[in-house]
Amino acid sequence: MRRVHIALAAFLASCAHAPAVAPAASVPASNEVLIRIERAAGGGTWRVAWRLPRPVREVRFSRPGHGDRAAHWTIGTAGLSLSTEDGVDRITSAGPPFRGFEVVVAEYARKPEKDYQVFIPFTDGSVLVFTGAFDVDAPAGGPSWPIGYTLVPRPGEGVVVGGVSHRGKAAWIAEGDGTYACFGDTPPVETPFGVAVVDRGMPAWLRDRTLALAPRVFARYASGTGQALSERPTLFLSYGVDPAPGRQSFGGWTLEGVVQLDTRLGARHTGEEDPDVWEKQARLLAHEAAHLWLDHAFRPAEPAGRWLDEGGADAFALRALVDLGVITRERFQETLSADAAECLRQLEDGPLSGAARAGRWKALYRCGELASFLAEAAASRRDPPWDLLQFWGQVFWDAPDRTYDEESWFSVLSALPGGPEASDVVRRMVDRPDPSIAAAVGSLLRIGAWPAR
Ligand SMILES: [Zn+2]
Repeated sequence: MRRVHIALAAFLASCAHAPAVAPAASVPASNEVLIRIERAAGGGTWRVAWRLPRPVREVRFSRPGHGDRAAHWTIGTAGLSLSTEDGVDRITSAGPPFRGFEVVVAEYARKPEKDYQVFIPFTDGSVLVFTGAFDVDAPAGGPSWPIGYTLVPRPGEGVVVGGVSHRGKAAWIAEGDGTYACFGDTPPVETPFGVAVVDRGMPAWLRDRTLALAPRVFARYASGTGQALSERPTLFLSYGVDPAPGRQSFGGWTLEGVVQLDTRLGARHTGEEDPDVWEKQARLLAHEAAHLWLDHAFRPAEPAGRWLDEGGADAFALRALVDLGVITRERFQETLSADAAECLRQLEDGPLSGAARAGRWKALYRCGELASFLAEAAASRRDPPWDLLQFWGQVFWDAPDRTYDEESWFSVLSALPGGPEASDVVRRMVDRPDPSIAAAVGSLLRIGAWPAR
């Protein structure tokens, strides 16, 4: 299963489309699952129907339900029931085998921990739907089942999926973890990097700044790593008003070719250009965009440490924001120093190798970011110097089958001037942190030329 990437975030939404190649309406293969998702007139309710390749007594959902299927789904097919066993949701028959079933879903907007939110409502009435929540697996031991979706909006509305805007219903073939599809009438916006769908409720200044920054971030990553994306990404920006006047929340997700940002602001932050809101939004955009390189164009091998991709995404973002003038050099230094200090504090609770299991995500983000900047400090001493995007570009270049891991990362680092010393410090962060790391981090970062350029 692919990794799920979630940053702090906010998103804004509207449905946009790019003139990409529309997925062909699928001719049902004999082993294909057909799933139809229909937004019911009136809103708030969805009708979903599955057609399986052959009769079964039980079918399992591919992804965890976090209790939401049990709470919000009503099985509409007689004789079938939904249950959960060992964390896996399944539909079972008390009687004969079944080949199809239907469910009525009362729309829910809940963000599960470290997983994709299934329904993301826009303030303008459109809704993003995560298709992966409906995927089912073939019975164990048999060939896998491809999945074809038919996405049916309300009359007069459309669907944006796979970078294409459709009037009326759309077909989509499932791949990977799934995708976000936008149901509604939010007009898509063509941008230099792809299609954007932006919630019409989002404050204009925030929408305009985000859409102006996005192509620059994508271009910075492509030129820095030397790796262009193979497809034009779709950017979904959803927005909401938080009932608490002083609150802000920012969330983000990436899927193959899709960046989704969700921004929720209290009344105190919505009226004018707010520098704090903008920095958070820009950092989230840059973090999520980085995942298109760190987790989709290239992939961390399982079970590579999450400090590589999540911390790497934070480092990409900080590098891009200072290079593109979103934050000042002073703010960059202040942020890097604070994040390095937080990493060192986090290491007092244990090494990075056990952090994901223990739910210590802050350790992975902060220390992974620091590791990338330690690599940058060493890379800045080569001739000609590299920044951390170029360092990562070398990791990608060396990646067999477009897959990288901790050892390939260390191997690029070790070949740089001062790289063995930096490698030693990062390896100790991963396996056996001790108080001497703080002094080593300080001196290694000072040697680097990039932060001061
Ligand atoms: Zn992330």
